[in-house]
Amino acid sequence: MSQKFDVVVIGAGPGGYVAAIKAAQLGLSTACIEKYTDKEGKLALGGTCLNVGCIPSKALLDSSWKFHEAKDGFAIHGINNSAGVTMDVPAMVGRKANIVKGLTSGVATLFKANGVTSLQGHGKLLAGKKVEITKPDGSVEVIEAENVILAPGSRPIDIPPAPVDQNVIVDSTGALEFQAVPKRLGVIGAGVIGLELGSVWSRLGAEVTVLEALDTFLLAADTAVSKEALKTLTKQGLDIKLGARVTGSKVNGEEVVVTYTDKDGEQTITFDKLIVAVGRRPVTTDLLASDSGVNIDERGFIHVDDHCATTVPGVYAIGDVVRGMMLAHKASEEGIMVVERIKGHKTQMNYDLIPSVIYTHPEIAWVGKNEQQLKAEGVEVNVGTFPFAASGRAMAANDTGGFVKVIADAKTDRVLGVHVIGPSAAELVQQGAIGMEFGTSAEDLGMMVFSHPTLSEALHEAALAVNGGAIHIANKKKR
Ligand code: FAD
Ligand code: AMP
Repeated sequence: MSQKFDVVVIGAGPGGYVAAIKAAQLGLSTACIEKYTDKEGKLALGGTCLNVGCIPSKALLDSSWKFHEAKDGFAIHGINNSAGVTMDVPAMVGRKANIVKGLTSGVATLFKANGVTSLQGHGKLLAGKKVEITKPDGSVEVIEAENVILAPGSRPIDIPPAPVDQNVIVDSTGALEFQAVPKRLGVIGAGVIGLELGSVWSRLGAEVTVLEALDTFLLAADTAVSKEALKTLTKQGLDIKLGARVTGSKVNGEEVVVTYTDKDGEQTITFDKLIVAVGRRPVTTDLLASDSGVNIDERGFIHVDDHCATTVPGVYAIGDVVRGMMLAHKASEEGIMVVERIKGHKTQMNYDLIPSVIYTHPEIAWVGKNEQQLKAEGVEVNVGTFPFAASGRAMAANDTGGFVKVIADAKTDRVLGVHVIGPSAAELVQQGAIGMEFGTSAEDLGMMVFSHPTLSEALHEAALAVNGGAIHIANKKKR
């Protein structure tokens, strides 16, 4: 007799592990299958996000920012650093590894605490909601499930012009492991991952060139934000070449010559390391038996409806392997929605209010629609902005770059988008998201009491500015 569970989850990333914990909390017998092992060969839960994504990249971003501040940002506070500041790169990377270890083993502890059965191996969905597990020793077991949640995530896209060797040409995982600062660093792709990893190594002294095929920078962001971001990141030393499509590369020993085309024709440039950050693709390798009944769309994503149900009753798919933004919090919330629906609740997810964040400095974050999208839809809007240069708290922190922009419907005053580039942008945008979830108007936000002095006051003032009522800046719009 094979083991049978109410819920079997394949993949223990932020989609899968959150779904498994929630399922167990709701009283469902739950197993979660994961195959990823760390450098010591031990099972490591947490998926891309905890092992080689969100968390390790933020650890390096925080370390490199502290280094940058110690080197170039202390003097203005009167702190003398004339003895010099140095960076021990292996120590920085080691700190990151410890954080990852703490969090991934924390997921294992949470599984135990909640009664989730953790199974190590490669999971494959067979017909009839059976799941085959190929264990590390090669043995195979089949278990049965009332419900299966597929959460296998994604992996970096490879492009033929720059094949990753994880030595000179690396993907995002390799870029988290450099043991020394490369002198000349190339990054292909000016997306979120390219800009974050480029920033880490630039702050530590690398000469960073970002090659981006598109002519437009950060297409998904509000144009006012992307313009400010391009200006600021360029000032910080990132050489961002737009309209530069990489067409080839040749590794010569410990360097790589990259060929790209731009408006002037073919160009070459030499780097000591090259990071390929051109996006991610869903992972479905050997995940579905040919008779599983689950459909994959033409782009390789598992086809699901608005509630993450596949074409097979009782089989669901969540996270990076399905349509929508490839973000950890989107994966987790889909996991919660699916489990609650399995329990018979009518849970829905609001896909319109998923915040996006780029953890550069300043941070870039937004929720809802941007001005160009709303204009294209013919929606009349009022816009209020407030610069951090006018924020007392930002001045105190010597961190005054950027602004908050609140966009509201001109007829109803309902807030339709909050866009921030500046200190703690991710946290400020979350406040906008909370308000928007409850249908806030700009006036509602403006009527709330915000602590002084806080960066949050910039959100308050931008909301007031929507209707010409900002206090600490001259209003563009008159009441
Ligand atoms: P994953 O996290 O990819 O997890 C899937 C898991 O399934 C993996 O552990 C894999 O080993 C396992 N698996 C796959 N197939 C099988 C199988 N057949 N059997 C058993 N196990 C299997 N997102 C954010 O929201 N914020 C950030 O700051 C952020 N930063 C990032 C930085 C980097 C460098 C990268 C690469 C990504 C970042 N992301 C960030 C994206 C985020 O990591 C993903 O959106 C998120 O991890 C997706 O979660 P998931 O559960 O769908 O899949
Ligand atoms: P994202 O999908 O946000 O991770 O961003 C990846 C970026 O890589 C996109 O902006 C693409 O335009 C860019 N890109 C993809 N292929 C190439 C290439 N061959 N040369 C330069 N940029 C590329």
